[in-house]
Amino acid sequence: MSLLGLRSLLPGLALATGTVLGVRGLPAHASTPPRDVVTAPTNVDPPQPVDATLLPDPGPWPPLNLECNLGRAWLLAEGPAHDPHDGRRWVTLTFDDGPRQETTPEILRLLRHDHVHATFFFIGSYLEGDKPRAVEARAILTEAIAQGHLVGSHTQDHDRLTALSPSQALAQIDDGIDAIARVTRMPPILFRPPYGDIDAFTESHLRARGQQLVMWSVEASDMKSSDADKMTSSLEDQLDFKGGGVILLHDVRRSTVTVLKNLLEWLQARRFDPARPERPGFVVTDLLTYQRETAAHPQQYSDRTALENARAAHWRADHPDEDTPY
Ligand SMILES: [Zn+2]
Repeated sequence: MSLLGLRSLLPGLALATGTVLGVRGLPAHASTPPRDVVTAPTNVDPPQPVDATLLPDPGPWPPLNLECNLGRAWLLAEGPAHDPHDGRRWVTLTFDDGPRQETTPEILRLLRHDHVHATFFFIGSYLEGDKPRAVEARAILTEAIAQGHLVGSHTQDHDRLTALSPSQALAQIDDGIDAIARVTRMPPILFRPPYGDIDAFTESHLRARGQQLVMWSVEASDMKSSDADKMTSSLEDQLDFKGGGVILLHDVRRSTVTVLKNLLEWLQARRFDPARPERPGFVVTDLLTYQRETAAHPQQYSDRTALENARAAHWRADHPDEDTPY
């Protein structure tokens, strides 16, 4: 395995030694591309040299949620507490429901252009078989890792886990992990449940498998809308209001490609300036760095609802005549 590939998978090693990570899955949310449609593969960029200094630090993941508790995962997605003397507003990008040959390579090109390392939660069944789409999906997964992105599982078939029998739910988790591992030769340690929906039984299995449950705090609802301008504006408003966050997008829709392009430009124009450290600005980083900052500066709230209530109260104090935007 190449150095780049090894570095990309090192979080998996960390999980194997006691921390966490991911899985696989299938179609997602409202609209899902048909699984059995075979089209000619598109060209995928060959692996390009990556500046190793831009890759995530391969050190161990902070043990923030070894119990795979869903409520805690939602709070962790909100990121680190804000320090009034530190203007850094942390942002990390996550993509669900791929890989899809029509869109994921374009997402990878945009991220590479801006030297951004994201996290992809792939659907396991997309990676399996000999059809051209599956071959292309595996090539996209390999390319994502070569570019320094993290890859986790979104289950095998994107079924709602809580709607399945226990044995079916376990199979969805295990098969999704295995589908990615067959490509990467190392099990993923990051997991995102379809629809964000798991129960105590599923939590216990994820914990037993050493998975890190990764949720989100900012989303564009890009599986329900095709209005790129409206979605971009919504993301910008949420990031301003919350001061950063884990962004959820889906690398399976063309409108999402436009949203990402617009969003990266917006974030670049509002990036954190180290020369003015107290002035708020965005730092777009990889998930591991985001988690480490969260571990170093934990939120002082018991759960996400308590945090949201405090944030809303703060907003109302500053904007007595306006409704809370989120
Ligand atoms: Zn999904």
